[in-house]
Amino acid sequence: MDPIWLLALLPLAVLSGWLAASRTRPQAQRPVISGRISESYYRSINFLANDQHDQALDVLAKALEDHGESMEIQLALGSLFRRRGEIERATQIHQSLIARPGLSSDQKSEVLFELASDYFKAGLLDRAENLLLELGAGDGFRESALRLLVQIYESEKEWERAIAAGSQLDRLTAETWGPVIAQYYCELGERDLNAGDYEGAKLRSDDALKLNRKCARAVILGGRLDALAGRHCQAVEAWGRLGDDHPERLHEVARLVQTSSENMGEPEIYAEFLNRAVEASSDERLQLLLVDYFSKQGRTEDAEAQLLTWVEENASLSGLHCLLEIRVDRELGAASERDYQLVRKVTGKLLADRTGYECRFCGFQGKSLHWQCPGCRHWDTTVPRLPNIKLS
Ligand SMILES: [Zn+2]
Repeated sequence: MDPIWLLALLPLAVLSGWLAASRTRPQAQRPVISGRISESYYRSINFLANDQHDQALDVLAKALEDHGESMEIQLALGSLFRRRGEIERATQIHQSLIARPGLSSDQKSEVLFELASDYFKAGLLDRAENLLLELGAGDGFRESALRLLVQIYESEKEWERAIAAGSQLDRLTAETWGPVIAQYYCELGERDLNAGDYEGAKLRSDDALKLNRKCARAVILGGRLDALAGRHCQAVEAWGRLGDDHPERLHEVARLVQTSSENMGEPEIYAEFLNRAVEASSDERLQLLLVDYFSKQGRTEDAEAQLLTWVEENASLSGLHCLLEIRVDRELGAASERDYQLVRKVTGKLLADRTGYECRFCGFQGKSLHWQCPGCRHWDTTVPRLPNIKLS
C-alpha cells in the first residue's frame, strides 16, 4: 500500500484500537477524563476531529451506540460539532453533560470550559465570560480559561480586564505577556487621547513603556502628547529614537515630525529627520518623502539627483515611478511620449499592487497599519510591505 495511505489511516487505526480496548474494559474501570490513558485517547479523537471531520463523526456515532454514556465520547463529539460550526448541537451536548449528577470537580471544569467555548464561538461573549470566571484559580483549566477570556476582552475592547487577565497569565505561565499588555495600555492611552484626557493618556503610555521599554506604539503616543502640549522639540526627539529599535516605524511618524518642525518654524528639522531615517531604514517611502521635501522647497535639481542615484543604486521601482512623475511635463516626441506614458502606467500599477502592510506572523495583508493583526490577532506583527522588485 502507498505509504501516504498508511499515514492517512493511522489515526483511524489508533481510534479503532481504543474503541476495541474500551469495549472489553469494565464500565467501572473506564478512565477518568484527566487520567493518562484517557488523555491519549482523547488526543487521537481530536486529531481526527481536526483533519477528517466526516470520518470522525462516523466513528464517534458508532462509538455512541456502544458507549452512549461515555463522557469522553460526548466531549469529543461536542468539540467536533463546534469545529464544524454546529454550535447548537455542541451546546446541547455540553449542557446535558453539565446537568449530570455526580460530576467530579475536574469533569465539571472541563465541561464548563467546553460550554464557554461554544458560547464564544456563537458570539455570546457575556455568557462565555461568566462561565470562564467560574473556573477557580487552582483549577486545571484556569490557564485555558484565561486565554479565552483575553480573546473575549480584546473583542469587547475591555482593555482593563484584558490587562488583568494577561497579568495573571504572565504569572501563571512561562510566557512574557509584557509587550502584549503594553499594547492594551496603548489602546487605553489612545482612547484617553481621543477623549481629550491627555494626562490620562500620558500615564497609560508611561505604563506601557514600563512593561516594554521598546514599545514603538507607546513612544509614538508619548510624542503625540508632547506635541499636543507644545513640546515639539521633545516630541521630535522621541520619534527620532525609533530609528534605534524600530526603523520600520519611522515612516509612521514622518508626517508628525513635519508638522512639529513647521510649528517650531524650523522645516530643516524635518529634512534632518528624513536624512537620518533614510540611513536607518530601507523603507523606500522615506526616500520619497525626502524627494518630496526637496521638490516643495523648489530644489527640483536636488530632488532629481537624489532620485537618480537612488534608482541607479537600488534599481528601485518606487524611485523609477517617482522619477517618471517628476519628468512628466518634459517635452518628448510622439512615439517616446506613448512609451513614456505606458511605462508610467505600468510602474504605477505594480506599486499599487505591492504597497501596504503585511503581518510577519500570518502573512495577512492590508492597506493600513493594524497594531493587532486582523488575521491572527497577534500584536505588533504588522510591518510595511514594500515593493521589492529589482529591475536588474
Ligand atoms: Zn497575522
